[in-house]
Amino acid sequence: MESNSPIFIVMLGVPGAGKGTQAQRLEEKLGLKQVSTGDIFRDNLRNQTPLGQLAKSYMDKGELVPDDVTIRMVEERLSRPDCAKGAIMDGFPRTLAQADAFDKMLRGKGQKVALVPLIGVTDDEVMDRLTGRRVCRRCQGVFHLMFNPPPPAGECPQGDKSLCDIYQRDDDKPETVRNRLFVYYKQTAPLIGYYFAHGLLAEINGAQAIDKVTSDLWDVLDKAMA
Ligand code: AMP
Repeated sequence: MESNSPIFIVMLGVPGAGKGTQAQRLEEKLGLKQVSTGDIFRDNLRNQTPLGQLAKSYMDKGELVPDDVTIRMVEERLSRPDCAKGAIMDGFPRTLAQADAFDKMLRGKGQKVALVPLIGVTDDEVMDRLTGRRVCRRCQGVFHLMFNPPPPAGECPQGDKSLCDIYQRDDDKPETVRNRLFVYYKQTAPLIGYYFAHGLLAEINGAQAIDKVTSDLWDVLDKAMA
């Protein structure tokens, strides 16, 4: 895939569809920066910034952080040199207002969204994936109680033999996951129609092996950029 102008890819799908995992793989393959708004909020939370404190109240409930705050944050993030070639947007936009603002932001620089892969998985699958997910505070490793259990003795794979500090994200608790799904259908699902109407949507079956999802994703990208 060759292009001289910056490339912006928007990953779409329910929370837990695998957007982050696939965005990371695309980042390596395409040399474009993954921009995860959830990660930026979590970083701010860890560093106890005012933005982090504001975001926490929404994140803990599975609600969306207000559009104006989120849009400003993304605009700042995309203005950094590591996004000069474009970005893989993971978790943004999540509302129609954000999608409009993003279009406007890019248009102002003569740029536009190149492709919107929609990673489809069922709600039951998402419940299983997210409520079983466990994260290490030290290495940021992501595990799953069934599919990729955390190290039994707690040894951290990247933590210099120190112990993994495993926890469940507050927003992965079952009642919060249900609310995140509700919020997705109410506020984010309209983006499917929005991007379909712009001729940018590419549906991918997310209920397959991770490598197969990646190769399907690669195929649609190749076609779109040909
Ligand atoms: P994620 O890791 O993408 O599931 O995001 C975790 C949480 O961060 C979400 O449940 C929201 O509270 C917040 N968040 C992430 N991205 C956005 C966004 N684009 N707009 C509003 N809130 C967001």
